[in-house]
Amino acid sequence: MRKRPTSKKKLRTVFHAAGMRLTKQRLAIYRELESRVDHPAVQQLYLAIKPRMPNISLFTVYRTMNALESAGMVLRVATWKGHARYDATVEAHAHFLCETCGRIDDVDDEQCPDIMPMLVHGVRGTINRMDIMMSGQCAECAARAKQEAEAGSA
Ligand SMILES: [Zn+2]
Ligand SMILES: [Zn+2]
Repeated sequence: MRKRPTSKKKLRTVFHAAGMRLTKQRLAIYRELESRVDHPAVQQLYLAIKPRMPNISLFTVYRTMNALESAGMVLRVATWKGHARYDATVEAHAHFLCETCGRIDDVDDEQCPDIMPMLVHGVRGTINRMDIMMSGQCAECAARAKQEAEAGSA
């Protein structure tokens, strides 16, 4: 899901509320996540930013992501092989996780526009967060598995 970039002003407010200054590095971390649709782990964000900010540390990325998560600015959408995966889109939307390669895709909500409100009807209480996570095998991994199976039987 694409959205408009969050303003620097809003980010500054969020970081201040978490007792942190909005540094160049923290801004770069958020902007990197915001620009991606692959729901990266901390390590992937770190590796993407490192070439243009050689002084950044993995610890800074962890701390920043934790602060952003506490502030509700990013969502931890899944954990795959022990690594948390993040999303800058915090509005409820569904995900599909490939258990083979770990890719996480947003599920196109134009194809299922009514499922979220329908589910909400069944809840007694207040909802703070909503996740729909499906998992299985992506088309690429399924095709590869099929090819390998065919090669094996030939
Ligand atoms: Zn896959
Ligand atoms: Zn997402």
